[in-house]
Amino acid sequence: MLKGSCACGSVAYEVRGEMLGPVTYCHCWRCRKQSGASCGTTVGIRSCDLVFRSGEDRLASWESSAGTHRFFASCCGSPIFKREGPDPEFLGFRLGTLDTDPKKLASLHFMLGSKAPWVEIVDSLPAKREGVPFGERD
Ligand SMILES: [Zn+2]
Ligand SMILES: [Zn+2]
Repeated sequence: MLKGSCACGSVAYEVRGEMLGPVTYCHCWRCRKQSGASCGTTVGIRSCDLVFRSGEDRLASWESSAGTHRFFASCCGSPIFKREGPDPEFLGFRLGTLDTDPKKLASLHFMLGSKAPWVEIVDSLPAKREGVPFGERD
């Protein structure tokens, strides 16, 4: 089981199941702007495996594209997960708020066509190169 919490500590959660698919660096503009980081680091989890221990009422969300809601801790801004549709089986989970080691390395660059110009890719991970150029929105 994994544990995580938002930056101020009000929101705490557990992930009680496996991470699904590759841990992915997403270079799309939405991930960058929402996280404030150079890219978002994301993995799939089952919706039922994400259990909040405290602060669930502090979650807020915004609709980043039709039907896709990105949930963050309203107390301090930490991004927690993305949900596509009202009641999906899977969520896109943000690894940045974890407090325990998931024992899984990042293994994919996604939307590398949108990469921030200050980022130099120095690993040899596979990359999917779609994405609008930096500074543009789709
Ligand atoms: Zn917080
Ligand atoms: Zn993204």
